[in-house]
Amino acid sequence: MIRLALRCRVEQAEQVLAELLELAPSGVEEVAAPDGGGGTVEYAVYGAPGELPELGELVGHVDGAVIEVSSREVAEDWQERWKRFYFPVLIGGRIYVRPPWEEPAVRGGAEEIVIDPGRAFGTGTHATTRMCLELLLEARSASCRRLVEPGLARIVGRDRPGSFADLGCGSAVLAIAAAKLGFGPVLAVDADRAAVEEAVRNARDNYVEVDVRRADIRNKCAPTRDVVAANLTAPLLDAVASGWAKTGERPGILIASGLLRGEADRVAGAFAGAGLVERRRMASGEWAALMLS
Ligand code: SAH
Repeated sequence: MIRLALRCRVEQAEQVLAELLELAPSGVEEVAAPDGGGGTVEYAVYGAPGELPELGELVGHVDGAVIEVSSREVAEDWQERWKRFYFPVLIGGRIYVRPPWEEPAVRGGAEEIVIDPGRAFGTGTHATTRMCLELLLEARSASCRRLVEPGLARIVGRDRPGSFADLGCGSAVLAIAAAKLGFGPVLAVDADRAAVEEAVRNARDNYVEVDVRRADIRNKCAPTRDVVAANLTAPLLDAVASGWAKTGERPGILIASGLLRGEADRVAGAFAGAGLVERRRMASGEWAALMLS
């Protein structure tokens, strides 16, 4: 875990904090300056290296405000510290993701998911994950509608939204959300052994059935399902797209996240090569997410 800190003058604190929350919506730590201030304040964000925002971008935005940017590995107590930045999130009033140490939701009506990410990525608070969860709700409605349209669904009494795959599942937050929303069967794939272990544990602790498999989707063609979510990086999404373009396979609906705003057009173009058309685009901070079908 890395602690990325920046110190600025108090006069600019408000502006810096606003910009920083854009880049790191999951929370910012404010530290009173030890020297009684000296007219400065420090803000810090925590995360794995790939998860941390580009503070360089912020330095550009807040002209002359940033005095110092520093980063360091955090000490043994990081596990307690970072918990302060992992808070419950409610998505579209339907999905409530919380850490095990927070109280259960008081209001009913939402599917509750308890995620202890352990050594895996995916608390639900990261912008890329939140956009996936929002698009998952949309995909669920679209997928159910499609089943109902031909009249078949009513005849066989099937209103399930179909099968689901989570590519690069991390903690399996998306796979578990899908299972709770009625998708099935649900597949979760990750190349990282630790992620697979955490995904299995989280699925069990949430009482849902998820088939978790260890696989590197760069080396073999990514699986397709009725709905697929892939919160990866643009180069990996490109690899997934070209794999599908070669085999002619494609999912019914694809939720692609983990790309930067500036990469969205290119990635959408790559999936067009696999016959997928962009239906929806979301953005949050520097991140973008796409829904294609
Ligand atoms: N789905 C979760 C986690 C996304 S982080 C969420 O939305 O929050 C991306 C995950 O992809 C990480 O767990 C990482 O281990 C996995 N990953 C990265 N490269 C991969 C590859 N080539 N094949 C399979 N998984 C990969």
